[in-house]
Amino acid sequence: MQLQKKFVYLKDEFVEEDKAFISIKDRSFLYGDGVFETIRTYQGKLFLLKEHLDRLEKSAAGLHINLPQAKTQLQQAATKLASLNWPSHGQDFLLRITVSRGEGEGLWPQESKSVVVMQTRNLPLNLDHKIRYGVKVIISQVRRNYKLALDPTIKSCNFLNNILAQREANLKGAAEALILNYQGNLTEGAMSNVFVIDKNGVVCTPPVKDGLLPGITRDLVLKLAKSHNIEVKEKHIQVTELYNSKEIFLTLTSAGILPVVKVNDCIIGKGVPGKATRQLLECYNLYVKEFINGLKKIRSSS
Ligand code: PLP
Repeated sequence: MQLQKKFVYLKDEFVEEDKAFISIKDRSFLYGDGVFETIRTYQGKLFLLKEHLDRLEKSAAGLHINLPQAKTQLQQAATKLASLNWPSHGQDFLLRITVSRGEGEGLWPQESKSVVVMQTRNLPLNLDHKIRYGVKVIISQVRRNYKLALDPTIKSCNFLNNILAQREANLKGAAEALILNYQGNLTEGAMSNVFVIDKNGVVCTPPVKDGLLPGITRDLVLKLAKSHNIEVKEKHIQVTELYNSKEIFLTLTSAGILPVVKVNDCIIGKGVPGKATRQLLECYNLYVKEFINGLKKIRSSS
């Protein structure tokens, strides 16, 4: 069997992955001075690419980093990389776009030229199993960054509090760490947003102002819920509400909707993905199916 080569996109070029290098002076390496997005494919095509590029642009603006290329060019490059790397993955995968401020002396460089890197990797293992049976999460000791320290709406390469929270989750055998803000309200997971179905069956999620990344999947789920007449509310959520909830689920690009069946040692609902979560999962899967069917129409007419 012939091994397929994997490529990355680096400074306007598609380069074989093992031949792609960036400078040791790069500020993302030195300071985490950059922004990124992770996008997933369905049948090899990038899902919600425009939405991810819009958020990339906002994150970059939040750190006063100029995107090195127009969004249309980034869109074309990402699409080309996805099709170049589809054969080597042979299944759906994740594509990460990183924009670093580039090289530059001192904490605030007079001059710097931003750099874009795109790379792909496999989806996490056992995703289907986790979606089907649900996962355990913990409530982390790490608090979400205060907005005036580092705005959590910016998806920056400085991911240290997420990393420390995830370490805690791994040590405790959990799939994800939920993070509270400095006021003790729920914000999000280390790599996901959180939804809670309260005692009255209302689907609730913390508002962005509580300190969280406005997830692309979170946004889609809010829209899907509204369009299917499922009541949703953005509200502060406290830890006791988590423990007393009927159901909990996470939203994230790689998995879509991921049911939660345990928080620390507390079993949620009946310990299996609940009815409302399954209903939203169905809506989500339908939306993905329409995306895939849309692609098929485009492919057959071209
Ligand atoms: N919150 C954080 C901190 C994340 O890192 C992520 C995804 O990586 C999310 C939420 C979920 O966002 P999305 O649905 O755009 O993947």
